[in-house]
Amino acid sequence: MKRSHRKWTLFLALLLSVVWQSAFSQGKKANVVVLATGGTIAGAAATGTQSGYTSGKVTIDAMLDSVQGIRDLANLKGEQISNVGSQDMSFDIMLKLAKRINELLAGPDVDGVVVTHGTDTMEETAFFLNLTVKSDKPVVLVGSMRPSTAVSADGPLNLYDAVAVAADPNAKGRGVLVVMNDQIQGAHSLTKTSTTAVQTFQSPLRGLVGVSAYGKNDFYNNPSWKHTTASEFDISNVTKLPRVDIIYADADMSPDLIDASVSAGAKGIVIAGVGNGNMNKASVDAAARAVKKGVVVVRSSRVPTGTVGRNVEVKDDDLGFIASGELNPPKSRILLSLALLKPHTPQQIQEMFDTY
Ligand code: ASP
Repeated sequence: MKRSHRKWTLFLALLLSVVWQSAFSQGKKANVVVLATGGTIAGAAATGTQSGYTSGKVTIDAMLDSVQGIRDLANLKGEQISNVGSQDMSFDIMLKLAKRINELLAGPDVDGVVVTHGTDTMEETAFFLNLTVKSDKPVVLVGSMRPSTAVSADGPLNLYDAVAVAADPNAKGRGVLVVMNDQIQGAHSLTKTSTTAVQTFQSPLRGLVGVSAYGKNDFYNNPSWKHTTASEFDISNVTKLPRVDIIYADADMSPDLIDASVSAGAKGIVIAGVGNGNMNKASVDAAARAVKKGVVVVRSSRVPTGTVGRNVEVKDDDLGFIASGELNPPKSRILLSLALLKPHTPQQIQEMFDTY
């Protein structure tokens, strides 16, 4: 073969391999749908340094267009579910969100879902989805602590990382995840710990599921709690959840708050107890009265870390109470609301708190 001919053959082979490789990687790009609900990540202020701003101002398309390189990670489609600060997140929006995710993930065209959400109640929505999504494909919640207009806004990189996690087959089967500030946390165990710092989410008892840095993910933990495909909760025909109230305990608390909650029609009460889910004697008596009227009482704790165990200082077996284990009051409220959709014995509900 002549030398010039050989050079051309080599060049053509190289060209073909580049074209083939890029076509292959295009074909392998995951399809991710981004569902927007509002929050600071979609918030805007008049200047970059003021602390006051309004949540839920920016649309999902504007958010995606502002993040450089995000469309290289996955084929993206955005949908607006709501545009609220998450202090206004409701069970109606959570139900709408869970149903839409189940619809999207049931088909072969969607590989993962990202949900943009305010951080105030992100742990509640993440846990609700952890119990009601019927797919092992990645579902990733993301938010930000600074509005989109802030100097050094944290939303764009958080969103970039969240899409990278949702597009990653290694994220499958780990339950619903939250990605913020380079960290991947599990829906069961994370909680918001700072009112303003970008490093607000922590999983004090269980640690991180993994990390994501500029779209490179490293998973090193698999949440062991029951979730998604293993969960018994089916919300496909649910339009309303039963009323469950949280009552905050403190020194010399008023027991009549418990009686008032029962009179207002609560089907369940979660006590954000002191210490190991404790409350004063008069409130234990009020909670026992509630149980006698058919209301399910769960003892959780206002303390940010640790577990609430059965029969430690309160006689749960005698009084018919449930101990929340690792679940904090807002997550206990989510689980109890779902549990109360069907009749269950206190023993069955306790088992749910021990396994979900
Ligand atoms: N209040 C806001 C919200 O939860 C705070 C945030 O997103 O960080 O929507």
